[in-house]
Amino acid sequence: MTERRQHGEAPEAAVRPTEAADASGRTQGEASGAGRTAVGAGRDPLQAEPLGGGWLRVPVPLPYSLRFVNAYLVPEPDGGWTVVDPGLNTEEARTTWRELQQQAGIAPGDIRRVLLTHQHPDHYGLSGWMQQEHGCPVWMTRQAHRYAVRMWGTDSRFPRELEAWFRSHGMPDELLALLGPHLDSFRERVEPQPQPSYLEPGESVQLGGRSWRLIDAPGHAPGAVCLYEPGRRELIAGDQVLARITPNISLLPGDGVDPDPLRSYLASLAELAKLPTERVYPGHRELFADAGKRAREIAEHHARRLEHLLGLLAERGEASAFELCELEFGVHLRRNIHNLRFALSETLAHLAYLERDGRAEARFRADGAIRYRGVARENGIG
Ligand SMILES: [Zn+2]
Repeated sequence: MTERRQHGEAPEAAVRPTEAADASGRTQGEASGAGRTAVGAGRDPLQAEPLGGGWLRVPVPLPYSLRFVNAYLVPEPDGGWTVVDPGLNTEEARTTWRELQQQAGIAPGDIRRVLLTHQHPDHYGLSGWMQQEHGCPVWMTRQAHRYAVRMWGTDSRFPRELEAWFRSHGMPDELLALLGPHLDSFRERVEPQPQPSYLEPGESVQLGGRSWRLIDAPGHAPGAVCLYEPGRRELIAGDQVLARITPNISLLPGDGVDPDPLRSYLASLAELAKLPTERVYPGHRELFADAGKRAREIAEHHARRLEHLLGLLAERGEASAFELCELEFGVHLRRNIHNLRFALSETLAHLAYLERDGRAEARFRADGAIRYRGVARENGIG
């Protein structure tokens, strides 16, 4: 925690574990109402922000400390609309969309397409509902859909796999008992699930009358894509790069998962940093200009975290991932299983990275427990 405070990072649930909301309960970007279209008068002020060219940023409410996901409503030359990342399926989120559609004069069928940057529930959850309301296709990558089915399909084994995995990494029984109900709570928030059409990274899609290149964006979510438009140097980033927040990087159990998601993520950041950008549309919080600058800051954050983790391993000699997670993020996360899950998965992603570099090793005990220790380098620096 000390390290994060020093560097001013603001970790958040689903994107990054834990964040204290500011006094107003709103982010800086949402605090100013100037020039916005009021949506949802009489309750928490949700405001759609005009972005020029008819585009709207729609802060769709979330029942987590993150508070909002950014959906983008994009006018199309044919008179219809595209929605990018509609949000999580809650009563409040559906109300937000109904009110906005009423104010903007959007009738059933006017939303012609939903486009998903990735399948995390706070982006994907409303896509099936919107598909039913408007009879429109939902576009996402095949890999993202495969992962959504694995997580939220009717026969999903994921909750049991995650529980067994976290047990082997030292999570205590009383916290493991909270995991299944926590994961089950997402199911109704992603139903009805969409019948998707598939996007192919490397191809281009038309959005708002312009051609956008689909960029493979691994690390934060399997199968995620960003969209880049070189003419105006604009990037629709999903959660791959965010202002002020470091996206969560989780190692996950199971077959076919990325064994080193942090390395994949850092490679993706390096690729994104090569793209000149003047405007970035992120999945959370405010828009920003320079994706490369932010990508480099996030990469530096992870480099510091890796060094910090190596320091903890040197200090402790040997530790479970759960012990390291609590040393890194604090024991207060025991009160929030949602954030704790992301914190432990991210600790494991960092450990996997160090293991691949030969700087840490996992030791498997007879009782199934897995513990880590640092590996001294030849020059003696561990
Ligand atoms: Zn995400």
